[in-house]
Amino acid sequence: MSQINENFLKLPGAYLFAEIAQRVKAYKTKNPEAEVISLGIGDVTQPLVPAVIEALHRATDEMANAATFKGYGPERGYDFLRKAIVENDFRTRGIDIDPDEIFINDGAKSDTGNFQELLSVNTKIAVTDPIYPVYIDSNIIGGRTGLLGKDGRWSNVVYMPCTAENNFVPEIPQEHVDIIYLCYPNNPTGTTLTYDELRKWVEYALENDAIILYDAAYEAYIQNKNVPHSIYEIENAKKVAVEFHSFSKTAGFTGIRCGYTVVPKEVTAASQTGERVSLNPIWNRRQSTKFNGTSYLSQRAAEAIFTPEGHTQIQQTIDYYMSNAKQMHDTLKDLGLKVFGGEDAPYLWVGTPNGLTSWEFFEQMLNDANVVCTPGVGFGPSGEGFIRLTAFGQHEQTKQALDRISNWLR
Ligand SMILES: *Cc1c(COP(=O)(O)O)cnc(C)c1O
Repeated sequence: MSQINENFLKLPGAYLFAEIAQRVKAYKTKNPEAEVISLGIGDVTQPLVPAVIEALHRATDEMANAATFKGYGPERGYDFLRKAIVENDFRTRGIDIDPDEIFINDGAKSDTGNFQELLSVNTKIAVTDPIYPVYIDSNIIGGRTGLLGKDGRWSNVVYMPCTAENNFVPEIPQEHVDIIYLCYPNNPTGTTLTYDELRKWVEYALENDAIILYDAAYEAYIQNKNVPHSIYEIENAKKVAVEFHSFSKTAGFTGIRCGYTVVPKEVTAASQTGERVSLNPIWNRRQSTKFNGTSYLSQRAAEAIFTPEGHTQIQQTIDYYMSNAKQMHDTLKDLGLKVFGGEDAPYLWVGTPNGLTSWEFFEQMLNDANVVCTPGVGFGPSGEGFIRLTAFGQHEQTKQALDRISNWLR
């Protein structure tokens, strides 16, 4: 008899965005004339920049010719891209990363979800709450999370609440944890950690033999000089941290698919015999078994981001989104709402007024302003009483959505 892996049956059923889509559809069916604007989507809207388009055309031409055609590429990714990453994302910040510590991937979701496979089922994980759902869901599949309580928390997971009260800075857990997932700038709250705040986590990991899995997907949106772009800007982090990067939000690669993971050779975990095992060769072994690389076209496209023209062009797109974020931040603040994030990230985390729940506010805003948001509680129990708005819309639509929200709340 074939038996299912029971862990898959533990995964929460209704996916947040499916539930939102269903509610929006129901509203539109009842109100066919309504023009609904979504500030809920986590996808980018602006096209690829010219430098990337040119690189894609060139790479396509290479594929068209037997002399330059590319089949399977190197397992960790092409040297040209790993070198460009080392030079531009790390050496410019005074960080020494070896190209062999870079693994090119097809986007950060795969690796943030897959990395837990390297760790024992007995590993205790800690997550910030609210959180990007991939970290918990992949550990549910990995069998590490225990049972789901009525409060929406898994019994074997340590939750670190990030709330207005602690200024969205998680506190070090009281009990020992082995793996800590951190995502900064944060999705969904749009908040960041300063150098001093992040240093505490590196020190905890060094003192307590823990590993930090650091998701830096929104690093390119950081404006504040006090906010690290990489955890490796913190001294000794290379001993305890794995870092995930994505070109999805950096350069509009959600449809192209490319990112990378840094697995420093010094990061180790214990074997049953007490030996220290370096995670870098194990991750390489895992990838060469289960992953056959990111397409040559995507990697050439990613390389183009690091040229002077490419860099300038993607910065313009980031500025476009961040000007949305600023306008959203200022308008919502003027309306008397509690607004967080939006300064170093394309996300705004907004407190619901009058004690409304996340879903109540979602429904009211959909009905009265025809604007869609994402209910904060969908990202974890501490997200209750908040909604997430994204700055990835087009200027005109974003402005129109803000006008409607203003008219509605005034
Ligand atoms: C969008 C996002 C990613 C990146 O996803 P890709 O698979 O690279 O498209 C990773 N982490 C977080 C928190 C995200 O929001």
